[in-house]
Amino acid sequence: MTNVPEHVDVAIIGGGMGGLTAAVALNKAGIEAHLFEQAPAFGQVGGHLTLDTAAIEVLARWGLDGHFREMAVELNGIEVRQIDTGEITAAFPLPDLGSMGVADPNRKGSRVVHAFLRADYLKWLTSLVPAGRLHLGNRLKSLQDVADGAIAEFENGKKVKANYIIGADGIRSMARNLFDPAETLVAPVSVARTMCPVSAMPADIPNDRMRFFDGWAFGDKEANHGTHVLTAPVRGGAFICIDYQLHGGDQLQDCNPWDIPAERIAARLPKETWGPVRALLDARVEVIASYPLQDRPVATKWTSDHIAIIGDAAHAMRPTLGQGACQSIHDVGQLLMDIEAHGLSTAALKAYEAVRAPYVRSIVDVAKNTKVDPKAWKKKIEEEA
Ligand SMILES: Cc1cc2nc3c(=O)[nH]c(=O)nc-3n(C[C@H](O)[C@H](O)[C@H](O)COP(=O)(O)OP(=O)(O)OC[C@H]3O[C@@H](n4cnc5c(N)ncnc54)[C@H](O)[C@@H]3O)c2cc1C
Repeated sequence: MTNVPEHVDVAIIGGGMGGLTAAVALNKAGIEAHLFEQAPAFGQVGGHLTLDTAAIEVLARWGLDGHFREMAVELNGIEVRQIDTGEITAAFPLPDLGSMGVADPNRKGSRVVHAFLRADYLKWLTSLVPAGRLHLGNRLKSLQDVADGAIAEFENGKKVKANYIIGADGIRSMARNLFDPAETLVAPVSVARTMCPVSAMPADIPNDRMRFFDGWAFGDKEANHGTHVLTAPVRGGAFICIDYQLHGGDQLQDCNPWDIPAERIAARLPKETWGPVRALLDARVEVIASYPLQDRPVATKWTSDHIAIIGDAAHAMRPTLGQGACQSIHDVGQLLMDIEAHGLSTAALKAYEAVRAPYVRSIVDVAKNTKVDPKAWKKKIEEEA
């Protein structure tokens, strides 16, 4: 564990997608930014994620795009298959946000999206934070905005004063409670995730796209039987990440959420599941971890004089558009542009909030009302073409 300094220029709370990106970007901009993360170590968390070109272009400002593209796989669209026969029922490019209903007239059509393993990306980012500026095992307890800065106090009794603090502590953010303590809500869907080598899939099925194995139709959702299986390529296509989207995730509540027995997932698959989909489960090289989907209203306020919140802390959203991590990267991009324009100052924090809050609100609304229904997406794209 590193020594926690008493005073720093910027303290970032939370080492996830937003916080680590901010730590790298701020230090590259010559600002002494220290990151405080509750976990004692960075481990394997969260399965695959996707970033679209707009977010990768923000990473390019700090030279982070090249290596990112090497560890990710550019998706060749979405393919939908029947979960019982494997028959392809639809194949189409990933819809852009404009097509999905987000108010952005310049971005209608398909978009280029890369899939990657979240843990790989986070591990790589930690290696780019200057030595001595990453402080693990520090769980934020409280934050205070004072006349000449802000003070963070951790559960281990340590305290740090910073000129500015960035709260990037995710959907259950403590930092956000300073502005808006609205509760986190648990949705009736959970996602169980694992990973297997590409060899588990028949060789004539390329590992270059996102696949939905449509299982909702095979069960009564009310009785908690419907299951979608979603796969995505990661690690240059050498591995497949697998998501089991389970309606009624509460049926798994008696399991350790970070190590779900495979037979519990197998029992949730339709009886007539296509062989290769079952084979993915048998070939897993990762434990099956379960993530209940959660919701929290967008924070009503994102900044005070010396504190700003970013990412899920400010605007957690459903993963239906694959935008939560993308938007946390855009938050960092905007904040850095505002710091460049106004210096590291309250004015920069306020400018960041003024640009980001209204735009992200529109994305959160669309994400909330979008169902995981690839056939409906396809129909909408065709209607708008
Ligand atoms: C199933 C699923 C699929 C998704 N797919 C996509 C996708 O394809 N594309 C996409 O863009 N987004 C996706 N998302 C959303 C994305 O995961 C989040 O929006 C993104 O991780 C938010 O980043 P963050 O840094 O704000 O928070 P997080 O990544 O959650 O990081 C928060 C960090 O803060 C730490 N922390 C929490 N509390 C404290 C505390 N009190 N003190 C110190 N540290 C603390 C945590 O340990 C964690 O490391 C998905 C989400 C889910 C659930």
